[in-house]
Amino acid sequence: MPRLEVLGWWFSPFAPSTLPRPQALVGGLDPAAREPVLRYLRAGAVLVTFPEPSFCRFDCGVDDMGTRDLTDGTYVWPEGLAHYVERHAVRLPEAFVAHAVARGGEVAKFRRPKAAFGLYDRAPWLRWALAQGACPDLDGFEIPDDEVQERIRADLGPVPHAAILLCRGSTREVVLDIGDGALELRQLRAGGRVPQRFAGWQEWPVAGAVPRDVASPQAKTGPAGLVGLRPERKKGGVPMDAFLAGLRKQHGLDGEPGSGSKE
Ligand SMILES: [Zn+2]
Repeated sequence: MPRLEVLGWWFSPFAPSTLPRPQALVGGLDPAAREPVLRYLRAGAVLVTFPEPSFCRFDCGVDDMGTRDLTDGTYVWPEGLAHYVERHAVRLPEAFVAHAVARGGEVAKFRRPKAAFGLYDRAPWLRWALAQGACPDLDGFEIPDDEVQERIRADLGPVPHAAILLCRGSTREVVLDIGDGALELRQLRAGGRVPQRFAGWQEWPVAGAVPRDVASPQAKTGPAGLVGLRPERKKGGVPMDAFLAGLRKQHGLDGEPGSGSKE
């Protein structure tokens, strides 16, 4: 089955992962490519529709970025991707830009693939974003479930925090939301490292940071955690609703409190 190459999947502060932050991808799009790229992004055919709209990660006030994924038979992207290019000057992979420009911004006729598990291939997107230094270094971190959160809370004791965002069992580290978007990385063990504070995700270390001119997609496949917190399953036969639920999670639209809007 030919797979569709994912574009425009973003980090969400409501479900932190190794997906790229678009803020780290501002600038660098060839001005002559902008118009055809925008037209191309808007000309895709609808592949799937999600129940909840995506929201702009730049907090620009646009919180209905559409609910659909569009495709041209080669790539697949959320319909809100054009907004990032148009409003926030976000750059996209050079191969896609060349693809859109070569077609003059027009999507050629193609046979629309059936939405099926395994159709989406996000590895190229992640490789590219990693090489651009846009992915937070969160290898091995997971979103704790309720039970794990409870245990962490007991270990934290009186440490003030607004939310427990992530944990990494191997190092007994947790990432706390300490209010106003600020983060704290704390080790839950006696004699552990001094807690580190970050004003926000923009200060968090990026994964696989290398100078851009030496970065090549092949060379920088990065650490094992590259493909994110929810590795794709290889088996088929997953019911459509599970497939869509997985996609929603990857889009940060998984119905967790606050995940569907920025308020
Ligand atoms: Zn925006």
